[in-house]
Amino acid sequence: MLMLGGIFDLGRSVVGVSNLRCACLAALLIVATFSGCGEQPATAPQAAAEQDNSLEAEIAEMIGKLDEADQKLALEQKFCAVQSHERLGSMGVPAKLELDGQTIFLCCEGCEKSAKADPEKTLARVAELKAANATTN
Ligand SMILES: [Zn+2]
Repeated sequence: MLMLGGIFDLGRSVVGVSNLRCACLAALLIVATFSGCGEQPATAPQAAAEQDNSLEAEIAEMIGKLDEADQKLALEQKFCAVQSHERLGSMGVPAKLELDGQTIFLCCEGCEKSAKADPEKTLARVAELKAANATTN
């Protein structure tokens, strides 16, 4: 709001009081430009952020139900080994699976069959997910 006041003062001193309405419009335009984010309406990003927060809270709660060692693994993996777009914890407590002596996690038990069908592919996916997660954090 300090900035808006500054623009008003600037408008007054530059164009004079008689043109205050024009200065006012200019100020509104500038404010609109600053508050607008891309092509989305100003309310959309906020709504998305709120949704994200509740999803993150749910995921944290579900992962928190695992053993401490498992939590660490699940957080490293972050996404389901079968449906790699699906966050672990987004569909309830992540399903734990031993595959060739390695502990991996799935978003739900429904993915277990696919994970066991091709263990090599599943483990490769887990390694990929962990690597991606390690670089983004
Ligand atoms: Zn699943």
